[in-house]
Amino acid sequence: MKTDVLVIGAGAAGMAAAIAAAKNGLKVIVAERDEVTGGILNQCIHNGFGLHYFKEELTGPEYAERFRERLSEYTDAIQVLTDCHVLKLNRDKKALLVSPRGVFELETKAVVYAAGARERPFGSLMIPGDRPSGIFTAGVAQRLMNIDNRKIGNRALIVGSGDIGMIMARRLTLEGTEVVGVVERLPYPGGLLRNVIQCLKDFDIPLYLSSTVVEVRGKERLEEVVVANVDEHFKPIPGTEKIFKVDTLVLSVGLIPQVEMLDGLVSLDARTRGIACSSTGQSSCEWIFAAGNCTAIFDLVDYVTREGERAGEYAPRYVVGERFTRNVPIVPGENVMLTFPNFYSDVDDLTLYVRCRKPMEKAVLKVGNFERVFEDLIPSEMIVVRVPKQKLMGLDRIEVTLAEV
Ligand SMILES: Cc1cc2nc3c(=O)[nH]c(=O)nc-3n(C[C@H](O)[C@H](O)[C@H](O)COP(=O)(O)OP(=O)(O)OC[C@H]3O[C@@H](n4cnc5c(N)ncnc54)[C@H](O)[C@@H]3O)c2cc1C
Repeated sequence: MKTDVLVIGAGAAGMAAAIAAAKNGLKVIVAERDEVTGGILNQCIHNGFGLHYFKEELTGPEYAERFRERLSEYTDAIQVLTDCHVLKLNRDKKALLVSPRGVFELETKAVVYAAGARERPFGSLMIPGDRPSGIFTAGVAQRLMNIDNRKIGNRALIVGSGDIGMIMARRLTLEGTEVVGVVERLPYPGGLLRNVIQCLKDFDIPLYLSSTVVEVRGKERLEEVVVANVDEHFKPIPGTEKIFKVDTLVLSVGLIPQVEMLDGLVSLDARTRGIACSSTGQSSCEWIFAAGNCTAIFDLVDYVTREGERAGEYAPRYVVGERFTRNVPIVPGENVMLTFPNFYSDVDDLTLYVRCRKPMEKAVLKVGNFERVFEDLIPSEMIVVRVPKQKLMGLDRIEVTLAEV
């Protein structure tokens, strides 16, 4: 099989990339290992998707459906292969795929890699104690409830107050599971204020800040979870332990970009652990473009879609011979936890995503010769800013800083 552009993954990023690439008149094949397109959106049945992109509030499945419909308008240009796992990508631009039809090879001119993220597992937390059943990552719990229609437990504690943790607290409550609390090691909630109100306060679910799980206990099924307060270095403070009698522990402790397949082919960003990209979506391997949560974990699907469209625009331009040469490094400076993209290619203005390091009431964002004031900044909410090309001209390094005012 041969194609101009192979898109790996058909979540929000992959679907947007495929449509953008097809608009550029090239042949596109999308490979998705799941039975349906849409990725993680399919199991996110709450609303809150699409406010920026569609200017209306949709559920995850509705958002996915809008893109499925758009994909179907390009059947001449786009071939979608579901149930089709890309096993390997080689330096010679050949991919190895497996589907119920068997294993086959596909030759491409460019790739848009859009494989999403995976959840940080229980083992990574190094929590001592027993290993009973009843411990789930948020994504697995969400899939069991929202896709398989199963109740996962009767009394639950949630670890992590990011948006996913808080959304799961509400979802479990609505499904008849008593949620006894959400535990967060930071001194402030990890997610958006609107979710603190709509998912926790409205349901009287307590939020335990500066706290962590120090032990899990149970023989067959989880019986108790021990929680302690932590100091400013996140070390548990002896004597502050509380015991929660629960049969379910849901972990929502972060997503990690899924990049293993590109091991050795592309460079990664040390902070996001995602694929390091330029503002065109191009990776360090010039024919591999990337978009979505495999590059950095984005707050909103709207941003993922836009990045998918960007990669889907530049990959075909690469295929027809355009080269994007000037790649200026973008580096996080004072009070900045991370920035995306990693490099600026001066073909267009720069759409920059920035996460601050700590909550800030008012701060000036500086990006090269560009400045803008922002208010009420929190690490869980990305700042998104479009920096005009003229403000970045002649720079060899673009430092991004936030100065409190
Ligand atoms: C619980 C939860 C709640 C959220 N709530 C909101 C919200 O309220 N509002 C909002 O805007 N955003 C929300 N988000 C974020 C948003 O849903 C995601 O950022 C976005 O959908 C991610 O899209 P993606 O394409 O990067 O990844 P994914 O959706 O993960 O898609 C990646 C796709 O790649 C496929 N794939 C991976 N590897 C391969 C391979 N080797 N071969 C073939 N296919 C492969 C996967 O099967 C998957 O379908 C939420 C996310 C989660 C997890």
